[in-house]
This record gives sequence, structure tokens and C-alpha cells, in this order.
Amino acid sequence: TKPLYLVSACLVGLCTRYDGALKSHETCKEFLKNSIWIPVCPEQLGGLPTPRPAAEIIDGNGHDVLEGKATVCTKEGDDITASFIQGAKQTLQIANAHPIQGVCLKAKSPSCAVSGTIGVTAALLKNHGFKLYEFQ
Ligand code: SF4
Repeated sequence: TKPLYLVSACLVGLCTRYDGALKSHETCKEFLKNSIWIPVCPEQLGGLPTPRPAAEIIDGNGHDVLEGKATVCTKEGDDITASFIQGAKQTLQIANAHPIQGVCLKAKSPSCAVSGTIGVTAALLKNHGFKLYEFQ
């Protein structure tokens, strides 16, 4: 049987990015070539629209957000922390429902980034022991 992965939806060509743009991520597609993958977008699962305002974690990282020590705000200053936490929990629910090998996540995202400032969803999945792979 083929290995199973969860993947950031925007990495596999779905229109989920905050700016509504479609981008091609060949390295990730190559990685998943012989696998079965389940696309997820934590920000859409958190109830946010596409396109949506760009957002960033203020004064911390995804772990801090989960612990209530940091917030996620849009560039205009709207606090959308609750949507990010909801999206992370929904993604965890999907991850827990399937025998996945790991999760392929998009770099430089306040939800999905693994390196640098870890995103909220990446932090929650990491806390639950999932293997995380990051793609640009
Ligand atoms: Fe959704 Fe994550 Fe891609 Fe952002 S980086 S569009 S939250 S899947």
C-alpha cells in the first residue's frame, strides 16, 4: 500500500493561499509522487475566507499562540487568533483520523511554517508527535 500524508493544500495547487494565487511547488509534488495525500488548509478550516488579509504571529511563535502567550493579527491589526487555533485543531482531527506517515507543510506561513517562526498548526501537530516536512 502507498504511504499516506497530509499536505498543505496550497502546496498541491489548490486555491487556498491568503492572496488567492496559484503556485507550483514541484519539490513537494515530487516528494508525494508515489503517495496518497490529503490536502488541508488550516486557515480555511478555521473559517477564514480566500483571499484574506495577510496575517502574522505577534511577539512569539505557534507554540506561544497555543499557550495563549501570543496572538495572530492581520496587517490591519485585527486579532484572528481564534480562527488560527480552530484551524489547527481541525487539522489535528484529520491527522488523527488517518494512519499518516507525516505532514508536508508550507514554509513561511503563520499556520504551516516548520522552520523559523513555527506556525500554529505546525506547533500543534509537532506537540502530538507527527513527523513534519517543510516545502518552500
Ligand atoms: Fe492554507 Fe497553510 Fe497554505 Fe496558508 S500555507 S494557504 S494556511 S495550507
